[in-house]
Amino acid sequence: MKKIFYLFAIVTLSFFLNSCATAPKKVEVPVLSSSPSPRTNVDHTVGPGETLWRLSKMYDVSVASIVSRNRLNQSKELKMGQRLVIPEAAPIKPIISLYPTKKWKYIIIHHSATEEGNALAFHKAHMRKGWDQGVGYHFIIDNGRSGKRDGQIEISPRWLKQQDGAHCKAGDMNYKAIGICLVGNFNHDKVSTKQMASLVHLVNTLKNYYKIPDKNIQRHGKVNGALTECPGIRFPWQGFKEKLQHAPQEVQTPAAPSGTAAAPAKPKKPRPRFKP
Ligand SMILES: [Zn+2]
Repeated sequence: MKKIFYLFAIVTLSFFLNSCATAPKKVEVPVLSSSPSPRTNVDHTVGPGETLWRLSKMYDVSVASIVSRNRLNQSKELKMGQRLVIPEAAPIKPIISLYPTKKWKYIIIHHSATEEGNALAFHKAHMRKGWDQGVGYHFIIDNGRSGKRDGQIEISPRWLKQQDGAHCKAGDMNYKAIGICLVGNFNHDKVSTKQMASLVHLVNTLKNYYKIPDKNIQRHGKVNGALTECPGIRFPWQGFKEKLQHAPQEVQTPAAPSGTAAAPAKPKKPRPRFKP
């Protein structure tokens, strides 16, 4: 009996060792979250364009739970700057809505040229400039300050409403380019690892869906006619482009009609690398 047990143990062990040794090599691509973290109550300040639906998806918590914990009136819109507690929230994940349109031909990368900030702060600043639609970018990638997580992707109302940007006059980019701003001043600071991972994920998602060629993914300062160092002389452009090339080629299915209550993209479908 003992012999049979030892034999079984050896066979089992060698199976696991072999399966590790022969496992296919993983391609290293940026991930937004690694091991699952425990759920916890989270303080959340409502940003521009955020709805109960969007918060529910971001934190994987039901709308009913958020409403009940904060004694909200579900039929009322959330207010920008409103403080909420998200009960038993999962680690935050970006909900990148995609809209079928031929409008977007370029992606322009910016830095905020500030030490801190978030979508709400930029929204207020841009409103003060007289821009009625508020924050001029379509996406903001936070740096862990100003109450947002490092690498958090915030989606601005301009994206949710599919409006022109107000981020790059040169080359008429405001009408045809998706504007992404990383919080930080990359003339001095480094882009954090999490910001870079989020940037690669976001740009990869957008370029695959809108079929934007790599040459049309540009730094603000490299657009013809733009007189700026944006996104900063220390922005690791080569490293970013290399990471982008190694990111998985995926097609995302369109979302939803435009509007602030847009649905997220459906699950990704793998696309064959080569056509038969
Ligand atoms: Zn810029």
